[in-house]
Amino acid sequence: MLPDFIVQKASLAARNTLALAARAEFLASIESREQLATVAAHPLLSRLPRFILGEGSNLVLAADFPGIVLKMELKERKLAGEDDSCYYVSAAAGENWHEFTQWTLQHGFFGLENLSLIPGTVGAAPIQNIGAYGVEAGDFLHEVEAFDFANGEIRFFSAPECKLAYRSSIFKQEGWHLCGRYAILRVVFRLPKQWQPRTEYGDIRKRLELRSIRTPTPQQVAETVMAIRREKLPDPLKLPNVGSFFQNPLVAAELAAALSSAYPDLPVYPQQDGKVKLAAGWLIEKAGWKGRNLGPVGMHEAQALVLVNRGGARFADVQNLARAVREAVFARFGIHLEPEPIVVLQTGAAHGD
Ligand code: NAP
Repeated sequence: MLPDFIVQKASLAARNTLALAARAEFLASIESREQLATVAAHPLLSRLPRFILGEGSNLVLAADFPGIVLKMELKERKLAGEDDSCYYVSAAAGENWHEFTQWTLQHGFFGLENLSLIPGTVGAAPIQNIGAYGVEAGDFLHEVEAFDFANGEIRFFSAPECKLAYRSSIFKQEGWHLCGRYAILRVVFRLPKQWQPRTEYGDIRKRLELRSIRTPTPQQVAETVMAIRREKLPDPLKLPNVGSFFQNPLVAAELAAALSSAYPDLPVYPQQDGKVKLAAGWLIEKAGWKGRNLGPVGMHEAQALVLVNRGGARFADVQNLARAVREAVFARFGIHLEPEPIVVLQTGAAHGD
């Protein structure tokens, strides 16, 4: 007998923003911690492969999923505490990320404004350490609370334990989340009372200058970020996509220097560790794939880094285009692009390629 919050043979097509057709053998809508405990103690469900789902905005579904998909619907956001220098703001895993950022702004808790309009849930934010316009969730992350399926207990991860890195964390590196051991329940952010705008990214700076704004408010930074994103990035509800499809490559300084002399307009961003970040979107554009389609999928005309489903795409179409783009970039620049979204294979394992 199945608990009433679980359905069998459920379509995931509307639950991934790339709109790939796939089904889950079981799908659970998780609105409480008790429901997770029920799944963990269930004789059949506890033995199945598990996959934790937010809004499916960084996910490529390769095939039907033979286990249980846990769609996190836990809701709550609150001021959890404060000290002399910071507010501690907490949000449950199922909260929509953008709505959470706007709620923090409305309540006078600042810092997350550059991360406005990023699709997805709060619970997914630490997994890939979401980032935009020079700010990462990890800049403010204080603690992650998770349910441990191995023993039914709650585990707290401090920020250092999350091993946050560029668009990555322990949850992504070790695949814990995907293998289904932990379900993130809640994330606490530490937001400084002394706010500093982060406007070093060119697009933000230029727009503020156009409006003659020299010292922007947090709301003005958020508005600016939202305006840029709406212009450049396709709305997944209108044109299915998963945001950036490839990671920006981090290459050795010597390679970046050699490429820069061959391509003087190549954007290069030196990192603290000596590596140099290149813009994957620029490489894709120069390799001839900006705005170009292959079957029902294509690389977006306003942002070459975004792979879009123009209608009825299947996983094989996505694979074919990704391969073609990677080959073209490698042929021209000698650089291997790595996919950014999580690819869920039939077995329940997750792959980066
Ligand atoms: P963009 O302004 O066209 O810039 C291209 C790339 O150059 C960006 O990916 C960015 O790296 C890097 N860059 C630009 N200015 C930089 C600076 N001052 N210092 C260091 N690096 C710089 O980028 P975009 O595509 O419109 O995206 C804008 C921001 O939104 C980026 O931060 C991007 O990561 C984020 N975004 C993320 C996703 C996603 O799905 N993960 C989707 C859309 C946008 P970084 O990416 O490292 O910032």
